[in-house]
Amino acid sequence: MGRWIEAADGVLVRRYQELDLSVGLVVGGESCLVVDTGGDAGQGAELAAAVREVTPLPWQVVLTHSHFDHSFGTEAFAPSSVWAHRRCRADLVTSGEQQRKQWARHYRERGEVEISDRIAAVRLVLPDRLVEDHAELDLGDRRVGLRHFGPAHSDHDLVVHVPDSGAVFAGDLVEQGAPPQFGDAFPQSWPAALDGVLALDAPIVLPGHGEPVDHKFVRDQRAELVLVAELCREVAAGRLSAEQAVARSPYPEEFTLAALAR
Ligand SMILES: [Zn+2]
Repeated sequence: MGRWIEAADGVLVRRYQELDLSVGLVVGGESCLVVDTGGDAGQGAELAAAVREVTPLPWQVVLTHSHFDHSFGTEAFAPSSVWAHRRCRADLVTSGEQQRKQWARHYRERGEVEISDRIAAVRLVLPDRLVEDHAELDLGDRRVGLRHFGPAHSDHDLVVHVPDSGAVFAGDLVEQGAPPQFGDAFPQSWPAALDGVLALDAPIVLPGHGEPVDHKFVRDQRAELVLVAELCREVAAGRLSAEQAVARSPYPEEFTLAALAR
């Protein structure tokens, strides 16, 4: 079960204990926009029912990126337009099956058989409204911008900007409560993507995991990512060992090693 936080007027975040996930809802005058759908059909259905407690308006979905915890619950919203970056769709086509197997195994090994079975049963829904760098949605008396600021946490991160509310859903470009995840990341260009987020000048930043944050938090995370990018360059150039990089990194060893592997 999740719980809603109203981050701004008609801009809600739903928080989950599992993975500390945060998904979103933007309510306009004629329709609403669901930001990410959770990690399986059960999570998606719980979210869809929770959206219906907030608004009866027709919905559309936007996926911030292809990782299972953000995209595998989409079938609960069908039929619906599903917005995403063009490469998000491509990545779901190529990695969806592998993600399903990997995470079903992960939860089974942890003894969480119910979650494992739900992930194994997911019917993947591919995005049908594809974005390159920028798209504008009109929800009725409310415009929402979908923006891609270059490779960062993945090669297809979209942020969802709600200008009239001063809020932006940053997906996993920003992580609160845990270090950023580097498994599919592009450490060298991640800081520039955060510059794009900061340039929106939205005082309320809503991460894909954790609690809402402010500009200072994003600037601080950007500074840490600049340092990680520098460590990656130094190791690649042979001027630093991986052990030295781990010792100087702002993040725990496994996160730093994941960044160095990119
Ligand atoms: Zn992610």
